[in-house]
Amino acid sequence: MTLANLNLAAETQKILSDLGVKSESYTGGTLAVRSPVTGAEIGKLPEHSAAAATDAIEKAHAAFLEWRLVPAPKRGELVRLLGEELRAAKTALGRLVSIEVGKITSEGLGEVQEMIDICDFGVGLSRQLYGLTIATERADHRMMETWHPLGAIGIISAFNFPVAVWSWNAALALVCGNTTIWKPSEKTPLTALAVQSIFEKALSRYIAEGNTAPQNLSTLLIGGREVGEVLVEHEKVPLVSATGSTAMGRAVGPRLAQRFARSLLELGGNNAAIVGPSADLDLTLRGVAFAAMGTAGQRCTTLRRLFVHDSVYDTLVPRLAKAYQSVTVGNPLEAGNLVGPLIDKGAFERMQSSLDAAKSAGGKVIGGERVEFDGAPDAFYVRPAIVEMPAQTGPVREETFAPILYVMKYSDFHEALRLHNDVPQGLSSSIFTNDMREAEIFVSDRGSDCGIANVNIGPSGAEIGGAFGGEKETGGGRESGSDAWRAYMRRATNTMNYGRTLPLAQGVKFDV
Ligand code: NAD
Repeated sequence: MTLANLNLAAETQKILSDLGVKSESYTGGTLAVRSPVTGAEIGKLPEHSAAAATDAIEKAHAAFLEWRLVPAPKRGELVRLLGEELRAAKTALGRLVSIEVGKITSEGLGEVQEMIDICDFGVGLSRQLYGLTIATERADHRMMETWHPLGAIGIISAFNFPVAVWSWNAALALVCGNTTIWKPSEKTPLTALAVQSIFEKALSRYIAEGNTAPQNLSTLLIGGREVGEVLVEHEKVPLVSATGSTAMGRAVGPRLAQRFARSLLELGGNNAAIVGPSADLDLTLRGVAFAAMGTAGQRCTTLRRLFVHDSVYDTLVPRLAKAYQSVTVGNPLEAGNLVGPLIDKGAFERMQSSLDAAKSAGGKVIGGERVEFDGAPDAFYVRPAIVEMPAQTGPVREETFAPILYVMKYSDFHEALRLHNDVPQGLSSSIFTNDMREAEIFVSDRGSDCGIANVNIGPSGAEIGGAFGGEKETGGGRESGSDAWRAYMRRATNTMNYGRTLPLAQGVKFDV
């Protein structure tokens, strides 16, 4: 089927309606949403005013005051039901992700699977919100820490993972006893409407099981950055988890700090891989191809810089260039295509200006041109670009959210490692090597300075279980796995005296 024949507006409306979303929430409003697959408009949503957003925050706070009293394993039951509803809706929601963001079908489904996985993680976590008991110097005393819910948590998300990022935050925040208020990207609010409806189904089942839960446990706010700013400014939002560009984090972080609120920042990456002389080049080729071209280069963990040892450069790079020329670019809803569209014209223009800058800095560019399809003049497909660079200069030091892979040659491992770390961002990283010393150094204190450091797999993508996030301009936040739950709770240290005297710490005497 050609792109011209696709009626994505009709298909979107059918999916939304099947998932229980009322048509007035995606028609007749002011926020127009286009599918990058064809460029056609697929929804027009009413937006929240600042006053409506403020009102929603007050209600979410009131709901928090009740929800925090529900025992954590009972809160986990709601997240278990959410996981079940997501399993039931996986095909429809995955398809909607593909339509709204332009991801290939398996990646749209994969994003929903990630939501299911974090729900499973959250259910287990609901019985593991533990604190320590600490030895005390005072006789007949006990010292311990307890973890308490925090409040109404703000979630601001980016377009490229329109639903998974909400679930990473919400599944944990909810079992920790918080309520959530979500401001999705203005480019992808339709999938958010679908998720909210799926959540409400889970909540109805939870109540039907005999559990009690307040209204406004999970709230959705539709709009642009101004709506996000209301979340950032409101005193009843003790934590904002914000995913997006470093520019967004630079605006949001200081404003939260100003009112002593917490921030969990998941910002831009400029991820690299080193290919050592001993690397398995077949495996490397596949790892690099997915990490650099997958999701049309629109993952925060997309591979953007590749350092190749001079002994394997002339073998690997021509093979990579061939893969770049032959990779299938086109309708992401059609089986066989591996690279879908960029999100919009702005993304295409930024890609072209980075390629121009790379050329001016001596780069040799293969690919990068627009791929046009009949009947879809407003869709922006590109052939991924591979650029051989003489040095790590100009655009190589920035994140361009598009499929551009800058390739550089090295001869000394330690110099490659230095260059690897010599960018402002610090999200994800990889080394391809069979040399045990190189691999161990890469993941050691002297190695990669990123939040994620992999061996023999690409930097792109993540698995629920590990903490996700990065250093430096990536913002320092950690989400989803390991002990990331602590960000959504406050810690209290309790000292209990079960004796009849009052010994003071450090031997202090104060006898009145
Ligand atoms: P963006 O920064 O343009 O927007 C992200 C969200 O922030 C949107 O919801 C937007 O409305 C909101 N926003 C923007 N400015 C704001 C402000 N001043 N106050 C409050 N809210 C504001 O990002 P995008 O184009 O949607 O997404 C791409 C970027 O996101 C890339 O840089 C990518 O690396 C990053 N990203 C990071 C991660 C991660 O986990 N580190 C994950 C996904 C995407």
